[in-house]
Amino acid sequence: HSRSAELLERSKKVLAGGVSSEFRKFNHPHALFYDHADGVYTYDVDGNKYLDFTLSQGPMIVGHSHPHIVRRVREYSEKGQLYAGQHLLEIELAEKLNKHIPSAELMRFCLDGSTAVQTALRVARAKTGRNKFIRFEGHYHGWLDNVSWGLTLDEEKMGPRENPDTVAWTEGIAKGSSDEFILLPWNDLELVKKTMEVYHDSIAAIITEPIMCNSGCILPEEGFLEGLRELCDHYGSALIFDEVITGFRTGLGGAQKHFGVTPDLSIFAKAMASGYPISAIVGKKEWMHVIAEGKVIHAGTMNSACPLIAAALATIEILEEEGTYERIYGLGHQLMDGLRNAAQETGQNLLVQGLGPMFHTGFTNVGKVKEFRELRTYEQPKSKMFVHGLQQKGVRVIGRGLWYISAVHTEEHIDHAIKIAKEVLLELK
Ligand code: PMP
Repeated sequence: HSRSAELLERSKKVLAGGVSSEFRKFNHPHALFYDHADGVYTYDVDGNKYLDFTLSQGPMIVGHSHPHIVRRVREYSEKGQLYAGQHLLEIELAEKLNKHIPSAELMRFCLDGSTAVQTALRVARAKTGRNKFIRFEGHYHGWLDNVSWGLTLDEEKMGPRENPDTVAWTEGIAKGSSDEFILLPWNDLELVKKTMEVYHDSIAAIITEPIMCNSGCILPEEGFLEGLRELCDHYGSALIFDEVITGFRTGLGGAQKHFGVTPDLSIFAKAMASGYPISAIVGKKEWMHVIAEGKVIHAGTMNSACPLIAAALATIEILEEEGTYERIYGLGHQLMDGLRNAAQETGQNLLVQGLGPMFHTGFTNVGKVKEFRELRTYEQPKSKMFVHGLQQKGVRVIGRGLWYISAVHTEEHIDHAIKIAKEVLLELK
């Protein structure tokens, strides 16, 4: 990887901290610089080819540089009509989301997940007149001040687990913000209930990933999301689903459709537009009316630019094709089963957990992980070696062990990944 190594040195001279990739976050042994990508393959600048299960951290659900998307983006770039005036495309995209997503009665478009999350928090604050939020350990809601914390497993930074009887506080994270965040373990409905009982008239919202994908890939326990829904109804707080990962990945209607629990507000990004910077904050009329009435500002020079909306529409058109999700789920299950078999045959304690379209792999003797702190049972060095071993043999998964399936993977790709994984598992012995 000599060309990549050279570019890494060059990057450090002009980019704070060097590259922007996950290399910095997960201490990858080689920071790969990519040259191009096509379908399910990415190619680095040293001429190596990788079967890709990172999908650029999720967005490439229809594969890299899909011709339909490239065509539509080019068409609307060439037309030269950006945000300068109203345009039909914005309405068309909103109508599509309205058709598919249960809670999407009204919406606005933003440029990324982080700003759409902030808009949802604003809406909740404005409608309730409250400023406290409940969020969960291990969930990630973007990199902006008030929510950019909560992923560390470092005991000192994290503090002891709250005593359910006293419900300890975490301080407002953003200096100068009056927001206060209460950090609770996920999948513990009783603790959320007790917290709501104590702070009933000051909780603006509960925000959650409906599937915890930023730490492992952990499904909600039976009744957990339903319980959050009931509590929010009872106390007049907003239930916010952060569907940045689950949106258009678990299906056209997101995790809310998949689980049959409708939040008040939710956020869609990543897979909605194949990596083009557009996201959506969607919600029920009675919440989103604060934007309609101008009580909450939604602006942004670049929001709703035509080529971005065209990318989202083109992506959704492909996802709407008959059988797309059956395919993605089928391939995902084939890969999960294959990895489990490979683990068994090689005597490795590889836990494969998640949903077909995305899942997590790591080494632990625990049979099922159901909340953040249990991630401590994972043998982190071994998990890292597994991911690195795969990369060495031309299969890329996200550094923390997350795998994403696209609509253009085939059974042959899946079989190949299983074969390579088995080789790496044997080498790890
Ligand atoms: N929420 C969730 C659940 C995410 O996974 C992410 C990004 N990984 C974000 C919010 C932030 O989105 P973005 O990176 O587009 O700002």
